[in-house]
Amino acid sequence: MNESILETDMNLGELLITRMIQYGDSIALIEAETGRRYTYKDVIDRVQKLAHGLRELGIRKGDVVCTWLPNHIDYGVIYLACFYLGSPVQTMSPLETDDEIFRRFRECGTKYVFTVPSQLPQLWRIRLKLTTRLKVVVFGQADNCESYETLLQNKGEQITTGVDLDPQKTPAILLSSSGTTGLSKIVQLSHSNIVVNIQQIASIYCHNPEMRCVAFLPMYHHYGGVCVLLTGLYNGLQIVVMSEFKFQTYLQLIQDHKCEILHVVPPVANLLVKQDIVDRFDLTSVKIIHCAAAPLSQEVEKILMNKFRHRFISQTYGLSETGVVAGTSDKKHKFGSAGWIPARTEIKILDPETGKEMDPGKNGEVCVRGPQVMIGYINSQEENTNAFTSDRYFKTGDIGYIDSEGFLFIVDRIKDIIKYKGHQVSPARLEDVLLKHLDVEDAAVIGMADADSGEVPQAFVVRRLGSTVTSEVLNKHIAENVPSYMKLRGDVKFIDRIPRTPSGKIMRRLLKEPSSKS
Ligand code: AMP
Repeated sequence: MNESILETDMNLGELLITRMIQYGDSIALIEAETGRRYTYKDVIDRVQKLAHGLRELGIRKGDVVCTWLPNHIDYGVIYLACFYLGSPVQTMSPLETDDEIFRRFRECGTKYVFTVPSQLPQLWRIRLKLTTRLKVVVFGQADNCESYETLLQNKGEQITTGVDLDPQKTPAILLSSSGTTGLSKIVQLSHSNIVVNIQQIASIYCHNPEMRCVAFLPMYHHYGGVCVLLTGLYNGLQIVVMSEFKFQTYLQLIQDHKCEILHVVPPVANLLVKQDIVDRFDLTSVKIIHCAAAPLSQEVEKILMNKFRHRFISQTYGLSETGVVAGTSDKKHKFGSAGWIPARTEIKILDPETGKEMDPGKNGEVCVRGPQVMIGYINSQEENTNAFTSDRYFKTGDIGYIDSEGFLFIVDRIKDIIKYKGHQVSPARLEDVLLKHLDVEDAAVIGMADADSGEVPQAFVVRRLGSTVTSEVLNKHIAENVPSYMKLRGDVKFIDRIPRTPSGKIMRRLLKEPSSKS
């Protein structure tokens, strides 16, 4: 395993292109639905043409570009062209609601959006409210938009080097993180953050060029965007891009492309373990299974290993704010562990109450320092101060311990984000929507363990005096106001009072006790 980090301060686009040149004519990306494919040479050519096209369109260093897209064979091309130009890429789920998109555009000062025609009616609605100008690049053709393919055909000199920038201070990717105390925050990851993290992830993953994988995890999230797509290109993988996840199609693609690598989240690991349909496919090509984004049960890990006759399942642990900070690999593996800590990363386990360092093997809040940890949240001085200790360790909000051999174990979460099928569901946001309903006096949302999806949100509601509002009505209200993955799949329970601390914080732990659910 190579733990050395060779590059730290450079334009992320240059790191990737310099590396990709050596893979030349081998296949880089395949569109699952059509079989269309790009070699590494094609990808580099498209990146350089797109960078030129964007420059002609007027883009300048620092202009924020949003990818508001489902997974797409050109997602990586857009990322790389923007890195070259020094334009931060703001990623966003295609399922987001109008209000949230508007807020994030305003917060980032977004100037360009890459999207698909089906998203345009929503985008025009949002654009009406914005005071800044937004240029839209669309795959295919549509009125009032630049066509992506036309941009690539712009005549003139291609852009073959990245712009000069300060890699430690210039954001490369702007991710959305889900806060528990309020609305989601924008996480700024610098060029250096990702340059370093890609090399750290590569040292955990141990992939060889031309190994094959299917990319179905959303490329707007750190796992799908940085770990699967960008690290995959860095390692010379052949990546089959699925725009929409369907389990049977996924199995078919693994079989057809003889994939060696699976990148999954725990709910998909559950499907691989539980669904009989899996046995109808020849998955003997699979050599490595990576799992991340939420805790993987040891039982599922063991069944998965037996099923695929593997010696280990590789888990990685991290956050949007920190990138990957631990992982298990072929050479260093322990059941139930989130992994060993890669080069240049420091982890301290602190008592969440006193801030004092815990003894080895004792539970506390996992705090992380390293060159992959974000620059900070955008426009949020107070949140940034609260997020770090005085010596610049990021407070993850996860409870864990490090054993005597240096393996990290995550045991709980002090923050309250609900992980539904790997998606972040913010209780605060659902509570906010519930409280907007006239019949709701108070509300709290918690995550309930669910074997198939990891966790599902469940609501506790105090009805307004005299109201007889039903759970059906509130479920409908929620469904109309949030993306579908945030729906209240765990039902609504009506109670007399939401337990809160004197400062008003909801005591979710009490709600998780069985007595509060009757
Ligand atoms: P996100 O910012 O969406 O990547 O979510 C980060 C959160 O996911 C962490 O704070 C953890 O609570 C959880 N998480 C990520 N990876 C793991 C893992 N391997 N084991 C347990 N929890 C994880």
